[in-house]
Amino acid sequence: MKILYWIVIIPLLVTGCQDSISVIKQDIPDKLIVLSFDDAREDNVSFVAPLLKEYGFGATFYICEFPEFGDTTRFMTWSQIKQLADMDFEIGNHTQSHIDLEEVSQKEFAKQVTYIEDKCHQWGIETPATFAYPGGRVGNNITLLEKLTSGGYTFARTIHPDAYNPLKDNPLLLPSYCVHSNNLNMLNDFLSKARNGNIVVLTLHGVSDTERYRVNTSKAHFLNLLKYLKENDYSVIAMRDLNKYVDVKTAMKLINLYDERERIAEINTAPDY
Ligand SMILES: [Zn+2]
Repeated sequence: MKILYWIVIIPLLVTGCQDSISVIKQDIPDKLIVLSFDDAREDNVSFVAPLLKEYGFGATFYICEFPEFGDTTRFMTWSQIKQLADMDFEIGNHTQSHIDLEEVSQKEFAKQVTYIEDKCHQWGIETPATFAYPGGRVGNNITLLEKLTSGGYTFARTIHPDAYNPLKDNPLLLPSYCVHSNNLNMLNDFLSKARNGNIVVLTLHGVSDTERYRVNTSKAHFLNLLKYLKENDYSVIAMRDLNKYVDVKTAMKLINLYDERERIAEINTAPDY
């Protein structure tokens, strides 16, 4: 009886280990941070990007065109977005008009995603391979996400406040912490999760002393964040760099999107801080 038990259990244990080995391509170091900036704010190019270069940090900029996009004092032009790409930062897709995924049809979603891809082609920017859900919400129509899988997207970022564990999270449902001047008291708590195979993804928006919206970060606060990450030996990378550590295809197979309805419901109702 005992022998029979081991005949059944050992192959199961081995298969389980192999699954985790094949998702992780390279050991994930502690203090690994993905830095991302949403909404194409002008200060991302004039203030943020030069500082990131100075600190040797990577980052992803998720681009959309708000109705006010033409206001070049507040939003980047496509020529400036191209500048970011030329500085070796990643340009990611945030849909054409920051559309609400709760309400959009599959056709409209595809059109919105393709619009940003086409703009990138026109400007000689690498086709986006990572995505950020507008407002961090995935919506309830999982079939929408097939546009991302068929379009070759590897990672898609929500604003579900948690660390990313590649063995548990589907790459198209990445959690992230939204960081801004009003919740910096929680930063240490967020950053402390970057260990034991977990990666912390940070979402920022504009970094400005004149804009007053809720998720803005002041310049002084942003500088403190960079200094803190540097002095405490964090590695700061772009979203695309996760491909070095995670085998996305295997992870997507092991953690099927269609089994993640509960997680998606959590994401759609999560506080965004
Ligand atoms: Zn956004």
